[in-house]
Amino acid sequence: MANIIDGKAVSAAVKAEVAEETAKLKDEKGLKVGLAVVIVGNDPASRVYVNNKKKACEAVGFQSFEYALDENTTQEQLLDLVNVLNRDDRVNGILVQLPLPGHIDEKAVINAISPEKDVDAFHPVNVGKIMIGEYSFLPCTPAGVMRLIESTGVDITGKQCVVIGRSNIVGKPQAMLLLQKNGTVTICHSRTKNLKEICRTADILVVAIGKAKFVTGDMIKEGAVVIDVGMDRDENGKLCGDVDFESAEKVAGYITPVPGGVGPMTIAMLMKNTLTAAKQQAGI
Ligand code: NAP
Repeated sequence: MANIIDGKAVSAAVKAEVAEETAKLKDEKGLKVGLAVVIVGNDPASRVYVNNKKKACEAVGFQSFEYALDENTTQEQLLDLVNVLNRDDRVNGILVQLPLPGHIDEKAVINAISPEKDVDAFHPVNVGKIMIGEYSFLPCTPAGVMRLIESTGVDITGKQCVVIGRSNIVGKPQAMLLLQKNGTVTICHSRTKNLKEICRTADILVVAIGKAKFVTGDMIKEGAVVIDVGMDRDENGKLCGDVDFESAEKVAGYITPVPGGVGPMTIAMLMKNTLTAAKQQAGI
């Protein structure tokens, strides 16, 4: 039976580190850390994410500034707000909750955020920096995955790493981070042939496809580290991952549960990025 990787515990440790450093910066340098969170429209899932981010800010001692905009906000109005936040010294990080309503071009909004305040690390400048390994911020979910792998004590160097999914926010940056840690990385996607065989070569398997219980135990190498990024609903509407936990945990060496695995890490890494942004902007 696999060891369960406890994302709640690892994320709590990250947040505790951030809280400690934030308190120290305030005491010693009078520096306050602030995150602006922008939400457009009334999507219930986005509302939950934004509330969780605000709570996390409070818990680590950040100021949070929420901008809840009407569904009918124009792209120009949103871009104006982003420009105001880019210039606001109280705001160290800017997060625009995605998805945005269909009439707004997400790319244009992401590109308008100052790269120094882009704590999601979605701006092309930050994406490029990840490619060359000279980054300030890492995208929150892949960075969280790296912390979870680190928590197992398994050394990535020389390991066969398979990432299923090639999205810009998870799969691609995930593969780059594993490569930087000297993994031998294969990226799989919906057109990949022999997916099962490739998965079975993985010492470290990261799954980010968005299909409930897609990866089953027979696709996993004995003793592998299995990280499930998926956030899906099963046939009964219950939250589950992309990995069929029941069959996978019998084969894997380490495995993340859903919920309680990657999910809590994403917000913790957002807090870490915001602290990094504040320090960089203050020249610390
Ligand atoms: P996405 O943009 O929809 O990308 C999904 C990727 O999976 C695509 O690259 C797609 O391939 C690939 N794929 C789809 N079906 C496949 C199949 N049958 N075999 C192999 N590959 C397949 O999704 P995402 O944004 O990366 O998110 C993936 C999952 O992670 C979702 O469940 C999402 O909710 C979750 N997520 C969780 C967190 C968190 O904080 N825990 C954060 C972000 C995302 P093609 O490119 O060929 O289409």
